[in-house]
Amino acid sequence: MNRVYIKTYGCQMNERDSEAVAAMLRARGYRIVGDENDCDIMLLNTCSVRDAAEQKAIGKAAHITHQRKKNPDFVLGILGCMAQNRGAALLDQLPDVDLIVGTQKFHQVPDYLDNLRAARDAGVPIGETIIDIAEEAGSQNTIKDHLEPQAVEGGDGAAGGLVPQVNAFVSIQQGCNMDCAFCIVPKTRGDERSRPMDDIVAECRSLAARGVKEITLLGQIVTSYGRRDYTHTNGISPFVQLIERVHEIDGIERIRFTSPHPRGFKEDLAAAYGRLPKLCEYVHLPMQSGSNRILKAMNRPYSRERYQEIVDSLRAVRPDMYFSTDIIVGFPGETDEEFEQTRQLFEACNYDMAYIFKYSIRSGTPAADMGDQIPDEVKEHRNQVLLNILRQNSERRNAALLGTVEEVLVEGPDKTGQRFTGRTRGNRVCIFDANPRLIGQLVPLKIERSSVSTLYGELQLAGVDGPESSAQSQTSAQSSVSSLSGAQL
Ligand code: SAM
Repeated sequence: MNRVYIKTYGCQMNERDSEAVAAMLRARGYRIVGDENDCDIMLLNTCSVRDAAEQKAIGKAAHITHQRKKNPDFVLGILGCMAQNRGAALLDQLPDVDLIVGTQKFHQVPDYLDNLRAARDAGVPIGETIIDIAEEAGSQNTIKDHLEPQAVEGGDGAAGGLVPQVNAFVSIQQGCNMDCAFCIVPKTRGDERSRPMDDIVAECRSLAARGVKEITLLGQIVTSYGRRDYTHTNGISPFVQLIERVHEIDGIERIRFTSPHPRGFKEDLAAAYGRLPKLCEYVHLPMQSGSNRILKAMNRPYSRERYQEIVDSLRAVRPDMYFSTDIIVGFPGETDEEFEQTRQLFEACNYDMAYIFKYSIRSGTPAADMGDQIPDEVKEHRNQVLLNILRQNSERRNAALLGTVEEVLVEGPDKTGQRFTGRTRGNRVCIFDANPRLIGQLVPLKIERSSVSTLYGELQLAGVDGPESSAQSQTSAQSSVSSLSGAQL
């Protein structure tokens, strides 16, 4: 009765939290399973950023509680942002949920499950749902040390059995103090709290010792990292100081971060891209809107002119910089002219990747009470306009890479198990033939074909570890790749 299935909704932060919960449960003797039909305990780690994400998780939970009537021992838990946002009110719709655990209490999940199981083993009827959504000082320090080697079946002698993951998310802070008018995150994740720099660096060192080559520093507003705990030294912010320290770690070859705030892109961060070679030339820079009036209504503390200046300053340091962004279309009161300003800035910035959201009313946020909500069909039209531009940009950028040789970090077998996958420094996904021994290595890949989202190529290894020797083992290899596909939080 200890098989746990964890389903994660939403951003990388949630993925990261689920990994940490899974690691804690394994340490207690629970088995984490990949088949939801074959579990005794199901945990839904939820998202609240948009209403659709909440409805999806509620629908899933309702379906599961209906099914589990056949098995009274089954345990269903709702974790994370929606648990935090709705708390006990969830029981109105989902009276049979056993566990509701908020974003500062993930580390308590093993204790709660132990208690539930002990009660059931003793034949004690489970009474009320356990609800824990309290704030906890220091909870930002509990989300760490989550990585475990992942099994790659069918690898050969060198890479067979347990293969260490080559990229990892490292949580550096929790919460957010930005108070954007549309956003529920300050409510679900609490005030901004940073982990101590020494702890983060120690975690990165231990990840490097386990074979991790690429670190993504993770937080709601990473550029605000440590601003209350550390001072600027020689004009260098605590966040850039942290990047410098991770950069010094032997074995770490690439550094990324998500999600920053445009406000944090001062000279020190732009300059870091010029002097720290491990810092990849890929930046996620949430714009939200290209209209100054809408930005002000959103409580975003920058103008379209300042945003463009940041993009220009980064391109001046790294002309080959890849950009992605977040945009909200249909914020209350957004006129056609204001959307046109967003469209123009979106086009001018020439993004390689973007997350385009239709505004979703989040109760309790200032924007929820603003008049002039935009009809759904208008939001959808604006969404499609930006998606079309993005598709063209991405195609153009990928086509420009044809014939070039890109440095790729080999992550593992692709989804089919037939070939391998990795990413360029610009975060483009590549598919190629390789040898499992190359997992975790930086290799030159000649790009031969491209689609909107993927590059296909051939390794340029001059006879070293070519794909031929591994054709057999690749066939049955299963994907162990941790997806870094989104920069969105
Ligand atoms: N660090 C980011 C920033 O600078 O604002 C915030 C990350 S937020 C959790 C992820 C994205 O979700 C936001 O950038 C925003 O585009 C989108 N989002 C947040 N609230 C939303 C809402 N009510 N409706 C639609 N999209 C929303």
